[in-house]
Amino acid sequence: MKVITRFAPSPTGYLHVGGARTALFSYLYARHHGGQFELRIEDTDAVRSTEASVNAIFEGMNWLGLEHDSEVKYQSKNLARYHEVIDQLLDKKQAYYCDCSKERLDKIREQQMKNGEKPRYDGKCRGLGLEKSVDSIIRFKTPQSGEVHFKDGVRGDITVANAELDDLVIARADGMPTYNFSVVVDDADMGITHVIRGDDHINNTPRQINIYQTLGLPVPEFAHVPMILGDDGARLSKRHGAVSVMQYSEDGYLPEAVLNYLVRLGWSHGDQELFSKDEMVQLFDLSGVNKSPSAFNTTKLKWINQQYMQQADDLRLVGLVQVRLQTLGVDLPTEINLTQVVNMFKERAQTINELVDMSLFLLQPLEAYDEKAEKKAFKESAIEPLKAVMVKCEMIDDWVNADLHQLIADVVAELEVGFGKVGMPVRLALSGQAQGPANDEIMHVLGQNESITRLDLALKYLLQKFK
Ligand code: GLU
Repeated sequence: MKVITRFAPSPTGYLHVGGARTALFSYLYARHHGGQFELRIEDTDAVRSTEASVNAIFEGMNWLGLEHDSEVKYQSKNLARYHEVIDQLLDKKQAYYCDCSKERLDKIREQQMKNGEKPRYDGKCRGLGLEKSVDSIIRFKTPQSGEVHFKDGVRGDITVANAELDDLVIARADGMPTYNFSVVVDDADMGITHVIRGDDHINNTPRQINIYQTLGLPVPEFAHVPMILGDDGARLSKRHGAVSVMQYSEDGYLPEAVLNYLVRLGWSHGDQELFSKDEMVQLFDLSGVNKSPSAFNTTKLKWINQQYMQQADDLRLVGLVQVRLQTLGVDLPTEINLTQVVNMFKERAQTINELVDMSLFLLQPLEAYDEKAEKKAFKESAIEPLKAVMVKCEMIDDWVNADLHQLIADVVAELEVGFGKVGMPVRLALSGQAQGPANDEIMHVLGQNESITRLDLALKYLLQKFK
């Protein structure tokens, strides 16, 4: 049997972390078994579904590299098929029109709640053989006895008595099929063999299985994946920060790092943390999926991203840095070599955005000196070393190959002072900060002109200050 899985988002917002993880698990399961992975847009809710959300879902899937095999299926374009199956059920008296008013339904619900019972439709119209009317809905005749049993790929055996279920609505008064019905028709038509989805749908599964069985369709395997919690233990939501997958792109994460993070969110393989996509495909199985919810952990995501940044090709990082600089509206000085910049910070930065933040002092004119550092490093005694370094810089013919570390060491020797007496003011003059990469590295990246300009500016600043 060929495995066919699907991801079936409702396009009512961006692709969020939970959805992306569900998609990833379905994708990996299919790829692991040499099967197919499909994408279906569940857009029958015309009010809440938007084209922007559909595009956001495509964008997110694309960014993560979760490619699907067949054309995308849209539920909104499949209404005729749902009605065909609904008519079939009506003909066979496996479904019926119900004209119970909202008031009546509210009343019985109220009464049931009062009696401590589970609210459910009481089946009033089930045997009435009503004809279609303006505001009648269609209900499915759930078997009144027996039970539904399925073996969930994550949770194990699940049994629900049909007495617990009621006659669910399969079409609303406006003719729109409901989720529980259309999902069955589509999963069956698409030949889905394994439904992997969030466990918020676990209560729907017995209802769906009854529909499969009534229609004489093969029932797929189900696996319900536990939800994702925020670091405070509540269900992951916007208030925990970035929840949209594309937000991670904007925040400077690499897609393979996010993918790696997502696969570990609720799945494990020994204590291995880093997985290439090929490895995920090779190793993924439902037996490794946790039964309990997993908590989102930004610190870990950052760590994983850092690992991938360190391995990433410099050219690629340069490209991503350029995109980020464009977003920030920073024009690149002509003398700057971004590969050098990337190499300077890629060990330290955990995201592209962090890398760019760390390197902005090299790419933009210095606006101010760090106040604390200035008190320590910009004393009157800094004038002479700064001047000496500047003069030596001016004399260099071949900046690229110059030993700038030696240049500073020479000044230290000539002035007979400690290294800090030269190094600290030079660093502050070049970077505006007390900490950061080595002075010679900064000077190499800045280039000769800009290094001299910065040293000169600092000198003028000090001469003015100690006039
Ligand atoms: N459209 C449903 C959702 O986004 C899909 C559920 C399913 O996978 O069956 O929750």
